[in-house]
Amino acid sequence: MRELRELLARTLAAEGALVEPIEPEGLEIVAPPHLQQALALPEWSRVGFGPELPVQATRVSFESDWAERLERLLGERGRLAHAILQQHPYPPPRHEFEKIVQRDFVLQNATFRLGQVEQARARYLLLVFHITASSDERREDLVYLCINESNGALADDLARPLLSSLRSVDRSEGTLRNEAAPASAWPAPQIPTLAAGLLMPKIPAQLSPFLAGMERRMARDLERLHVYHSDLRAQVTERLAERSRKGGSVEALEADRMRLETIEREYHAKVGDLRRKYAMNVEVRFLQALRADMPVRRADVTVLRRKGSRKTHLDWNPIAKRLDHLPCESCCTSPRIYSVCDDRLHWLCPSCLSSCPSCGKESCRACNPAKCAKCSHNWSERSWFQ
Ligand SMILES: [Zn+2]
Ligand SMILES: [Zn+2]
Ligand SMILES: [Zn+2]
Repeated sequence: MRELRELLARTLAAEGALVEPIEPEGLEIVAPPHLQQALALPEWSRVGFGPELPVQATRVSFESDWAERLERLLGERGRLAHAILQQHPYPPPRHEFEKIVQRDFVLQNATFRLGQVEQARARYLLLVFHITASSDERREDLVYLCINESNGALADDLARPLLSSLRSVDRSEGTLRNEAAPASAWPAPQIPTLAAGLLMPKIPAQLSPFLAGMERRMARDLERLHVYHSDLRAQVTERLAERSRKGGSVEALEADRMRLETIEREYHAKVGDLRRKYAMNVEVRFLQALRADMPVRRADVTVLRRKGSRKTHLDWNPIAKRLDHLPCESCCTSPRIYSVCDDRLHWLCPSCLSSCPSCGKESCRACNPAKCAKCSHNWSERSWFQ
C-alpha cells in the first residue's frame, strides 16, 4: 500500500494539491477545485491506506474505485514516457558472455559464429496491458510486453526491474521525458499488429491458473450432468426391456422410446448450456507504453545453416542481468531450442518447422504463413495466432 500512497501523493501534488503524510499510513489533502471535481473530494480531506485508518479518513485501495478516478483525472496523459538510462552495465567478461550465449541461444539444426562483443545502446519498448477474462467468474490482471526494438527480442524479465529501477532513480536528473519517438523506433502504426502477435501466446500462459480452475469446475459440472442423465437413461431402458419382455402395449413401449430420445436431447442441450456458461471471453486493453534507452552488452551473431548465413545481434541487459530472447519468427513464442529454416534462415520454435501433416514435408511457417508450399494444406491449427 506504500506504493499506492506514494503514487497518489505524487499525482495530487503534481496537480496542485497540498499533500501531507499523516500516520498511520495516510495523507491529508487540500485539493484545488478541478481536483475536487475530478476525484469527488471535498476541499479538505484525509485518506488512509493501511489496515488502520487515521481519524476522519476514508479508505483508498486498488480494489476501490480510486483507480478509475485517477484514470479519469489523467486522461491520455502518462500513456507514453521515454526514459534515458545512463548507468553503465557491469558486463560479464567475454568468456563468461560466450558461455551465456551458448547456453541461451541453442540451435537445433544450425550453428552460429559469435562476432564482436561490445558496449551498445538498445531501446526497449515496454507495453502494459490490462486483461479481463470472464467466464462463470471474472479475473483481471496486468500483462507486460517488453521488446528490444533493435532486434525484436523479448525482454519480459526486464519489465518489473525496469519499473522499480525507474522509481528509484533520482528524478532531478530528468531521466523521464516525453518526446517524439526516435527515428529507429518501431513505427507507431505497426506497433498494435506487432504487439498483438507477441501478446497472443502470453495470454493463455498468464491465465493458466484461472483456466485450470475453470476447467475443473466445468469438468465437475459435466460429470454431474452425465451421471444424472445416465441414471435416467438406465431406468427408462430397464423399464422398456421389462415392458417388452412382458409384452406391454405398443403405446407404452413407444412412450418409453420417446422418453429416451427426450433424455438424450435434454442432455445435449444442457452440455451446450454448460459450454456457453464456461466459454471464456478475454478483453485486452492497452494501458501504458514506456520507451527505455539504455546501455547493453551486444554480441554480433551470424547464424549458419547449410550454405546460408544470417546476421543478427543479441543484447545482454544490465538491469535484467540476462540475454534478451529472440521469439519464434512465426508464432512469437519463446523457444528454448530454435530450428532454422533453409530458405531465409528464420529462427523458429520446433513446431513452426515441423512436417506438414498432409504431405509430410518439413515446412517453415514463417516463409509459408497460410499453407504448405508443397501441397497447399492449410495450417488451420494455427488460427489462434493469426
Ligand atoms: Zn513457433
Ligand atoms: Zn504439405
Ligand atoms: Zn522460413
